[in-house]
Amino acid sequence: MAKDIKKEEKIEEELLFNNLRASEWDEFFGQEGVKDSLHIAISAAKKRKEPIEHILLYGPPGLGKTTISHLIAREMGVNIKITSGPAIERAGDLASILTNLEKGDVLFIDEIHRLNKVVEETLYPAMEDYALDIVIGKGPSARTLRLDLPKFTIVGATTRIGLLSGPLRDRFGVIQRLSFYDPVELAKIVKKAAVKLQVEIDNDSIHEISKRARGTPRIALKLLKRVRDHAQVKGNGKINNYMVDECLEILEVDKVGLDKGDRRYLLSIIDKYVH
Ligand code: ADP
Repeated sequence: MAKDIKKEEKIEEELLFNNLRASEWDEFFGQEGVKDSLHIAISAAKKRKEPIEHILLYGPPGLGKTTISHLIAREMGVNIKITSGPAIERAGDLASILTNLEKGDVLFIDEIHRLNKVVEETLYPAMEDYALDIVIGKGPSARTLRLDLPKFTIVGATTRIGLLSGPLRDRFGVIQRLSFYDPVELAKIVKKAAVKLQVEIDNDSIHEISKRARGTPRIALKLLKRVRDHAQVKGNGKINNYMVDECLEILEVDKVGLDKGDRRYLLSIIDKYVH
């Protein structure tokens, strides 16, 4: 039962993030360095009329890796297919994904550090030569068949760059790290999301939510949604500082954005190593 509630919450969250996902670069705030280098890579690819190079994005969850991959596909005018490292269990799964791509398509692989070795090695020639080597048969009669693939782009995302093997990392032409956002950038994200959600919110509340979001857009949007619900049930639907404080107190999110679990974690570190 508890599991089902968690699952429902997750689905609801995903829907929220999909609805609020920045659909234009203008709506994607911050990460200026990342945006600049991607724009150069995109413009160069467009000039050459070629697919953009493979791109690796890394950084903590909720900072915009998936969103960027959508924006890249949109700007290149191509389709995007979404998958993740653990979802591609066998080389055959990868083959069926790759052979269904069209020229220029973007394949987004989330948690790419979790690809298994066999799949990863099948990916090397696909990334480098746009070819798949498939082994047919077993034992002495086994043969390798080389399948040509359309030129496509992989956008890989990882929260654990250190776990990516050297050969895989080297096959990405563009590697960019996403960093945490400052409260001013988060405020722009919260403001835009409030407009999309059609909820009234004052500037103080926008800043308070941004301050407590631990530098992470996903957390900021989640807090905004919780406060919106709170204001609808306990107030008149408008978000003010009083509503923010009251709601975050119930959620046990403190002034710097730490929740109960974070505080417990810090206290045990202090307990173990400081005393
Ligand atoms: P990741 O893939 O890194 O876990 P997402 O791309 O799923 O993160 O982002 C989570 C949510 O935060 C999405 O709704 C997304 O639109 C929003 N978001 C992330 N970064 C930004 C940004 N720079 N500007 C606006 N919204 C953002």
